[in-house]
Amino acid sequence: MDLKALAERLLPGEYPSLASYEEKYPPRSLTKGAQVTRLAPSPTGFIHLGNLFAAIANERIAHQSGGILYLRIEDTDLKRRVDGAVEAVKSALRYFDIKFDEGAEIDGDNTYAPWYQRQRAEIYRAFVKHLIEIGRAYPCFCTEEELGRLREEQTAKKEITGYYGKYARCRDLTEEEIYKNLDAGKPFVIRLRSMGDPENKIKLRDAIKGEITVTENDQDVVILKSDGIPTYHFAHAIDDHFMRTTLVIRGEEWLASLPIHIELFDVLGFERPRYGHNCSLMKQDGDTRRKLSKRKDPELSLEFYRKEGYYARAVKVYMLTLLNSNFEEWYLKNPDKPLEEFKFTTEKMSKSGTLFDIDKLNDISKNELSKLSAEEMLDFLKTWADEFGTEAQKGYFEDEEKMLRVLTLCMGIGGKKRRKDFTTASQAMEFIRYFFEKPDSYEDFRVDAGTKREILKGFLAKYDPREDSQAWFARIKEIAAENGFAAEMKDYKADPEAYKGSVADVAEVLRIATTGRASTPDLWSIQQILGEEETRERILSVF
Ligand code: GLU
Repeated sequence: MDLKALAERLLPGEYPSLASYEEKYPPRSLTKGAQVTRLAPSPTGFIHLGNLFAAIANERIAHQSGGILYLRIEDTDLKRRVDGAVEAVKSALRYFDIKFDEGAEIDGDNTYAPWYQRQRAEIYRAFVKHLIEIGRAYPCFCTEEELGRLREEQTAKKEITGYYGKYARCRDLTEEEIYKNLDAGKPFVIRLRSMGDPENKIKLRDAIKGEITVTENDQDVVILKSDGIPTYHFAHAIDDHFMRTTLVIRGEEWLASLPIHIELFDVLGFERPRYGHNCSLMKQDGDTRRKLSKRKDPELSLEFYRKEGYYARAVKVYMLTLLNSNFEEWYLKNPDKPLEEFKFTTEKMSKSGTLFDIDKLNDISKNELSKLSAEEMLDFLKTWADEFGTEAQKGYFEDEEKMLRVLTLCMGIGGKKRRKDFTTASQAMEFIRYFFEKPDSYEDFRVDAGTKREILKGFLAKYDPREDSQAWFARIKEIAAENGFAAEMKDYKADPEAYKGSVADVAEVLRIATTGRASTPDLWSIQQILGEEETRERILSVF
């Protein structure tokens, strides 16, 4: 068969020589040990924890080694493409301080661009054409229905499904048959003519999983679809070669395709990159462990962390804890150091499913947030509110002085113990709401209406905002005594029957009247921040 003529018929036109691509995208000049890694998401608009997981690993390895991290957009599947998805990836990752050195929407004129696979059609086709010319690729005219029937037949016989060996019907079509099909205008895909033998095993070192053995590929996989767009497998080989990736870190769901990729790199005459297959994030669901799911688990989406206002460093700390088995020990010793100082290694990455536990993340978040100064907390909350807060919440920051006092009090700054009440910005904003908005609901006052009135009346009569906290508390004791409550806790404890309650119950009534809540930081301090007028107004409004 005249393969050159066939290649010309299938992919007509002049293509640049293969050597010219090697020149156009030359090997990078890297310092010794420098790694080129990449993130290659499909622009579906859904960025998830798995992406962040891989992004952190890729970013650390590239930047720690003095190498490069780039962003390639795998947009070969038009159906799944969503507008604005690239910006969404970038901004989601920017939040976690993952910065790309090169890539889509960063440097379109870089030597290794274009970064969108759709813009790289020529190069894929040039190499497909070459493979047809050397007899390592061929057209396949099988229809979806025929392939479906084949799958059923194989499944019924309990055989491996796919297009291989005796099942690869178009592999040995005669020249006449091929041209007849083409003349009839039948659509076709281009398949790899595999030379692999599943009896043969390939041993290799996965950067994460260590020594692994895979079976040689014998599937004649599609490399170019009928619309002239390559499959993931083929684009991966071409792009990671010509973008000069040295280490491919990707999800372990790709491990099964590794034999195909090995054969493709070999047949194309490319040196293989190193691979590292990272494990999936699992969730404990009752007695079983399952993969985090888009439908069931909102925490899979990175959008969730931004909307809730997770502190990026906390999420990163948790991700690093899951990613590298020696990170936790380092973090305990260096709780305040920049995370970049931790030496990340692929060898310490977990080899099998990692359990993601949001409660652990929440603990880390509380801890990390409790280390912030009031000013840092203000910046963090303001950034969140500007993007996700209500109009009222945005308004909380008009008086920064007041906000700093609120945060100092609520975070326990300067007190005996730093408080750890906040997990996220949205939670913190809700926590401090009563300083800025009047309560819209009240917890149960737990005293009868008459008693409540008397306590509030007593307070309004005695309240003097110039008094310090001790003097203020002495007034509360007076109100307690005047209303049949024990002014001293010990008196109440000694004879609870003799009183309506204790001074603590009186303070609680005032606390709820002022804030709507039964549990708050120090009430005197809250009233100091609110000011006399606001305090009086609030007390009056619940009479
Ligand atoms: N586009 C592929 C995905 O989103 C990338 C896999 C890879 O990193 O090679 O799963």
